[in-house]
This record gives sequence, structure tokens and C-alpha cells, in this order.
Amino acid sequence: AARVTGVTPRPPPKYEKTEWPLSIVFVSSEVTPWSKTGGLADVCGSLPRELVKRGHRVMVVSPYYQRGTKEDKYFEGAFDTCSNASVGCFGAAHEVGFMHQIHDGVDFVFVKHDCYERPGGIYADAMGNAWDDNQFRYTLLSHAACEAPLKINFEGKGTYGDEVVFVANDWHAGLVPLVVASKYRQYWNTYHNARTITVIHNILHQGSEPATTFPNLGIPDDWYWCLEYQYPEHMRAHELDLGLVVNILKGAVATSDRVLTVSEGYAEEICTPLGGKGLEGILTERKHRLDGVVNGIDLDEWNPANDPHCEFPYDVSNLAGKLMNKRALQRELGFDVRDDVPLLGFIGRLDWQKGPDLIRDSIAEMMNEDVQLVMLGSGIGELEGFMQWAEATYNDKFRGWVGFNVPVAHRITAGCDILLMPSRFEPCGLNQLYAMRYGTLPIAHATGGLNDTITRHNPFALDDPEVAVAAAIASDEGEDGNREMADLGPGTGWLFDSMDTWSFMYCVSNACKLFRENPRMWRAMQIQAMSQDLSWYHAALKWEKIFEWSKIDPP
Ligand code: ADP
Repeated sequence: AARVTGVTPRPPPKYEKTEWPLSIVFVSSEVTPWSKTGGLADVCGSLPRELVKRGHRVMVVSPYYQRGTKEDKYFEGAFDTCSNASVGCFGAAHEVGFMHQIHDGVDFVFVKHDCYERPGGIYADAMGNAWDDNQFRYTLLSHAACEAPLKINFEGKGTYGDEVVFVANDWHAGLVPLVVASKYRQYWNTYHNARTITVIHNILHQGSEPATTFPNLGIPDDWYWCLEYQYPEHMRAHELDLGLVVNILKGAVATSDRVLTVSEGYAEEICTPLGGKGLEGILTERKHRLDGVVNGIDLDEWNPANDPHCEFPYDVSNLAGKLMNKRALQRELGFDVRDDVPLLGFIGRLDWQKGPDLIRDSIAEMMNEDVQLVMLGSGIGELEGFMQWAEATYNDKFRGWVGFNVPVAHRITAGCDILLMPSRFEPCGLNQLYAMRYGTLPIAHATGGLNDTITRHNPFALDDPEVAVAAAIASDEGEDGNREMADLGPGTGWLFDSMDTWSFMYCVSNACKLFRENPRMWRAMQIQAMSQDLSWYHAALKWEKIFEWSKIDPP
């Protein structure tokens, strides 16, 4: 009975139709479930559906990949539109076809060309070497996407026409704003009322190639300056390298009406030398057009009340199932089955960005505490090796699971008490959102989207479920909400400000102490975390504001 919280789950938001329906064209190199390597695909798979619910007409343009993987089958639902386009780039005219599939009211349009049909990864071969024609593949995608709203006649609904908002995601779609401005408006007298928005999901990838490749891009010569970029000396390969490149993401930032990224915090960070990866200058110049909106999550895929990967369903009204899942996970991992020991988890790519090395550097100290820790991930060999070493050394309390395994990720998210997310930088981050929905409290580095989505534990809060729910509702409303109410809540996790073992372990120790000594406060935190609305609903409303602003500002 101690696990029954007296709180009812919040009903899903009610959709009202917008008074200002728009025609919106997303352009992306990947989209869930047809093609996915990360968060970008999830955004382009789920946000368009929300916008359709609001009454917009939405198209997503992405390549028709055939890679010899199980994802190929998703494309079987797409039919040939019998529309074609001829794209002038790389010194020739390239014919592309358009395939079409409607899903939840969204027009998913797939660009068909031989260059997307080869076995291997989306961006790289099986060995991880990037395809050497990626510049061609995504130049083609961007040009083709500009043709789609003009050419494709959707049955019974006609074309989208030229009054659309383009949403160009990452560098792969970065030529869209340039092509609209330099070619269509200037020479073809169209898209005068169109708007373009560049979305940055990860600024590490900018689509840079030697400046000599400029003529391939199909952009008029007098627009070269938008793309030209000179890498600082320390970033060049050797001394003869002048560092002169065409940088597609830079071109997109320079020419789009608005720039958007996946959290407010990351929007700030990419304007700094550390976070901007060379683009901080131009982003700072365009800061008045730069915004951040945190991603939502797919509430059906990540639902503790109905998760096919977990044995015991639960929700915020009754957390007994969570405890059962914890015991099941402890059994699965071969740990002692104990309710009183905090079970910690880590899920993610093992690379520098995600900070698993901070866990490595803190492991001796952490293992001195009465805790259990499970890590799931793959990536840098050295870090995989660390997980194997730690499992052998601390066999009764550490498990390292090398691999990419979605069911295990769900069971860790449901069964753990605490999720560790020591990312060095994090544009948005999804795992902390999933964790909070499952009542698993995150400990994270105060950066980017982590800083924006996790509310620090307030030790002076009341351990009152009603206060926790009210705080969750107030924080959903963001700047329009009641800040005082949001601050009165117990919080949803812990954030450490500096990437060092001392700061990290300070949070870990505090969290574990709270877990052991104050179950009522712990439960209040779980209630606040689980009562938040992490759906796309609020995010979609904020995106609409950006669309409106892009219309109000002159191009
Ligand atoms: P990024 O896109 O930078 O990798 P995100 O947090 O935005 O990081 O999204 C990562 C997604 O991949 C999440 O859905 C996470 O659960 C999943 N994921 C990462 N590593 C693994 C793994 N080893 N096994 C299962 N899922 C994983």
C-alpha cells in the first residue's frame, strides 16, 4: 500500500485546431521507422503527426533507401506518384522519382534515385567509412525536396504549391534554404512567400567539403560567399591545407529565415566557442533568429502502463509494478534482489559526447557505496573494455552490457531507481525524458537539453504528492507557467555543473542517501517526474510560434 500514491495519471492533452493552418515541408536524411540512426529520425517521424492533428498540411521528404536491412520493408507501403523531377547538379541533370505513403495524415514522400539503394548504413558502409558521395546524395535530396511541393499532385488534394514553410534538418537538408533563395526566387519567380527554417540536431556534423566542390552544388556563383568557410589552423589536416571549404550548415544558417535547435540551452551553447564547433560567429550574428524547442517523446513506445518489454505495468497512481520490475531486473542481472539498494543505470553510445569515461573515472568511489550499477552501450573499444573489466572486478554490483538492445533499454529504464547521464554536451537527449516518465530519476551534467528538462532536487520541498503534481504542471507551461509553484516541487533529478568526478559523485551520493533515508521525498520526486507532460503537444505549439514568427519577419 505504501506504493499507492493517490495521484491519478494526467489525461492526454486535447487538441484544438489551429486558426492558421500552414503547408509545411520537412526535409530529412532519416525518418522513423523507415530509416533511423538517432534522435533526428524520431523528431521527423513524430512531430509532423502532431502538426497534422492541429490542422496543418504536412509533408516529410526523405530518401527512398534500399539497404538490404529489415527497415527496407517499411518502404513497401509507398507508391509511385508518377511525378519526376530533373535536378541540375554535379555537372548533369539527374532524374529522381517520388514515392508516397500517407501515415496518420502526414504525406511521407521518398526521393528515388540509385544513390540511395545500396547495402550498408545510411551514411556509411558496413565498416563505418562514410560513403564518398554523400555530398552528392544530399545535394540531390535538397534540390528534389524543393521540387516536391510544386510537382507532386496528391490525389484529390492537389499540389502543396509555393506558399510553404520548409523545415531543413541538419546539414543533409541544408541546401534547401539556399536553393529557395538563390535559384527559385531569383530565377524562377516562385517561392516568394515560402519560408525556410534550419533545424540543428547536432552541430558536430556540418557537411564540409573542399571549396573546389562548390560548382557541384547547383547554386548560382554569386552565392558562394554564403557557403565559404575557413577552418582555423589547428583544425586542418596538414600545413598545405588552407582550410577553405564549402560548409553546407553554415550556408543554411546564413540564408534561412529562422534557425531552430532541439533545446533552449543548446541554442545558447552553440553561440559559444566551445559549443559552436566553428559556427559560433555566424550563429551569434543571427541570434535574433535563433530559438530552441525541446523534443517531445513517443508516449506509446515509452509507456510504463503498457510496455511489452517489461513484465509489470505501472503508472503514477500505483508504483508497485516498478518495484517488481526492479526485482526482475536484479534477477536478470544476477544481482542480490534487494529493495533497499539503489539500482543505477546508464544507456547510450559509448563515446566522448555521452561521458561514460566519467563513470569509469568514478567507478572505484562509486563501488564503495552500497549501490548496483548496470551500463548498456556500445562504441569506443576502450570503454567497452572498461565495462568488461569493471564487471569482473565488481562482480556482485556491476554489469556491463555491450550492444544495442532496445528491450534491455526498456527494462533498465523501468527497473532502475536512477539513470546516469553524464553527457559532455547534449542537444536534447531522450533517455532522461524516458526515465522521468518511468519514475526513474536522472543524474545528469547540467548541459543543453538535460539542463532544460531536469528540475534539480529541492531539499526544502514538502514531500506532498499534490505539490509535486502542481509543480509538474507549472513547469510544463514553461515561461507562461507559475514559476513559484514549479520551484516549490521536490524536483525530478540531480544536475552537476562541472564535468569532474567530484561533482558527479557528490550528486550520486546525495541521491543514494535520499533514496535510503527518505522514501516519501523520493516518491514525491517520482510523482513530479511522471506527472510532467513530455508529449509532443507542448513542443508542437512552440514550433507553431516559430512558423508564425518566420512569416512575420521579412525574408
Ligand atoms: P543520440 O541521438 O545522441 O544517440 P538520444 O538520447 O537523443 O542520443 O537518443 C538515443 C536513443 O538511442 C535513445 O532512444 C536510446 O534509448 C537509444 N539507445 C542508445 N544506445 C542504446 C543501446 N545500447 N541499446 C538500446 N538503445 C540505445
